[in-house]
Amino acid sequence: MDLLVYGIGQLASPVGWEPRRGPAQGELSIRRDAYLVVCEGRIAEIGEGRRPRFSGPALDAGGRCVTPGLVDPHTHAVFAGSRVQEFVARARGERYTGSGILNTVGATRAASEEELVALARPRLLRMLELGTTTVEVKSGYGLSPADEVKMLHAVRRLGEGLPMTLVPTFMGAHAFPPELPREEYERLLVEEMIPAVARDGLARFCDVFCDEGFYTVDEARAILAAAREHGLGLKVHADELAPVGAAELAGELSAVSAEHLLHVSREGIQALARAGTVAVLLPGAAFVLDEPYPPARDLIAAGVPVALGTDFNPGSSPVASLPLVLSLAVLKMKMSPEEVLVGATLHAAAAVGLADKVGSLEPGKRADLVVWDTESYEEIPYWIGQNLAWAVVAGGRLVVPSHVEGLPRGAEEDRCAD
Ligand SMILES: [Zn+2]
Repeated sequence: MDLLVYGIGQLASPVGWEPRRGPAQGELSIRRDAYLVVCEGRIAEIGEGRRPRFSGPALDAGGRCVTPGLVDPHTHAVFAGSRVQEFVARARGERYTGSGILNTVGATRAASEEELVALARPRLLRMLELGTTTVEVKSGYGLSPADEVKMLHAVRRLGEGLPMTLVPTFMGAHAFPPELPREEYERLLVEEMIPAVARDGLARFCDVFCDEGFYTVDEARAILAAAREHGLGLKVHADELAPVGAAELAGELSAVSAEHLLHVSREGIQALARAGTVAVLLPGAAFVLDEPYPPARDLIAAGVPVALGTDFNPGSSPVASLPLVLSLAVLKMKMSPEEVLVGATLHAAAAVGLADKVGSLEPGKRADLVVWDTESYEEIPYWIGQNLAWAVVAGGRLVVPSHVEGLPRGAEEDRCAD
C-alpha cells in the first residue's frame, strides 16, 4: 500500500532499532511541517517543508501531531466471561489475590475457538481506534493442552483478520488448573505443551507468572528453560504481588522482558540492567487494584529500558487504552511525556521482539502511525481519558476512521515506482 501523509504539524518519534537506556529513553526526533511517504506498506521517506509530488493516495494531517502506532506489549485480550463482580467487590474493599483468574479459565474453557475470536475482535478494534497497531496477546486462561492451543489458534485467526500486528505468547504457566496436582501440570507444560506450541509455530514467546501464590522461581526457571530449548523467547510476569526474585530470574535468563515489577527488589533492577531485559510496566493494573505503582524512575536511572502496556484483562486491568496508560505513567510514575512515548512505541516493540520492524517512524519500518488531534505529543497523556487518535494508519493503510474510500485514489503508478 502506498500513501503520502502530509501537512504534519509535528512528527515525533524515537530513533533506532533497539532500546534506548537511561537518559536516552527521553530522546525523540521532532520534525515540524513534515511529510511521510509510504511505499508498499513501509516508510520510504520522511521530509520537511513543501508537500512532495505523489500521485498515490494522500492524507492531509491538517497540522496535527503524528507519532508511531502504539505497541501494547502485554495483554490478555482473548478470554470469555466478565469479572465485573470482582470490580464491585474491590469497591467494597476486598483485595486482589489473583484467584479470580480461575473464573475466566472456566468461561474460556467453555467457549469455542469461534466464540473466543468473536469476543476478542471488537476489543482489539477498540484498541486500534485508540492508536494501538501492534498487540501482544497471551494465552493462559485454558490451562490444559487443548484449551491453550485453542486460545493461540484464536490469536492467529484474529491476526489474519485484523490490520494490526498480533504477537502470540504462550502462558500456560499463568495459574494452576484445579483438576491436576501441581507437579503433574508442570510436567505437562514442559514435556507436552511447550513442545507442541513451538512445533506448530503458535507462539513467539513463553511467559510464566512467577510470584507469591503462583510459580516459584525454581519452577519458572525449569519451564522457561524448556521454552528456550524449543526456540521460544522468554518473558516473566515478575514480582507483581511480592518481591520473590522473579526479576533476578529474568535477568539471569536474559529474558526479553520482565513485566509488572510492582515489588521488584534493588537486586532485581540490577539484574535487568545487566541483561538488557526490557521492564514492561503496567500502571493500569496498579490503578485498578489501588496498589503502589512500579518504580519507573529507579529502573530508568539504573539503565533498564522501560516499556508500557495495558495488561488488558478482565480482572486486574480492564484497560484497553494505551493513551490512558501514558497519562498514568506521567502522573503516577513521574515519567516524562518523551519517556512514555518511547515506552509505548520503541521499547514496547523491543519487548515483543519487533524493534527492527515497528516502534519508530524511520525509513524501512512498517508504516504504522497515528495522527493525533493535538498539536504536540505532550498532549497525548495530558488530555486524560479521551480518544485523540484522529486517524490510524497500519501497514500504509488508513484503518481508522474506516472510511478508507474517502481517500482520493491515485494512479497505479506513483513515485514509489521510481
Ligand atoms: Zn498479565
